[in-house]
Amino acid sequence: MAERILIIEDEANIASFVKLYLEKAGFAVERAATGTDGVARALASSPVLILLDLNLPDIDGLEVCRRIRATSQVPILMLTARDDDIDKIVGLEVGADDYVTKPFNPRELVARIKTILRRTAAPAPGGERGPLVLGTVKIDAARREVTVAGRAVQLTPKEFDLLHALMEHRGIVLTRDQLLERVWGYTFAGDTRTVDVHVRQLRRKIGDECPVVTVWGVGYKVSDDAAVA
Ligand code: CA
Repeated sequence: MAERILIIEDEANIASFVKLYLEKAGFAVERAATGTDGVARALASSPVLILLDLNLPDIDGLEVCRRIRATSQVPILMLTARDDDIDKIVGLEVGADDYVTKPFNPRELVARIKTILRRTAAPAPGGERGPLVLGTVKIDAARREVTVAGRAVQLTPKEFDLLHALMEHRGIVLTRDQLLERVWGYTFAGDTRTVDVHVRQLRRKIGDECPVVTVWGVGYKVSDDAAVA
């Protein structure tokens, strides 16, 4: 059975154009034309991924994202207007996995979707090796669970993969481009602000015990020092 993608987009032209390409790529496509309908369908029909336009006629896309995230970890790819930098950043903060800027190349959109699905379907690397522990932070790749001092922390798939990549390379600095490649699957230099926003989210969710350290001008790393600092 084809994997179903939900597109929440009020503009019929864009929605049917995207639908065409996604169906050609082998996906089943469901469409919602309003935010309210989108939230309802997201929860009722469990799509494998949601394409979410930020500019909707009833509730705005960021609020739609928040409402879906309240109960679901489904990957969300935002569609944004070219210059809405603030929206992109807020969107990632409220739990979107990535964004595509309009106007987009439909082939690139399909490639981006496949990358996200591959990352979410594959067990995290090192899954057979038992949990990674650093200070009070414990990450179980096989179950995709994170606990801090025994308290479960709910992370989005991208936040999880990011923390996992850094924990696996303890003490080693990973650049933003390396993290984009490992976690988002980009083989080209993408928008590195995506990495910064996700690190900020990790820190907010994990709190003072977050072991991720900023190495200014280079990237990020985790170290034992950070966990006890
Ligand atoms: Ca729109």
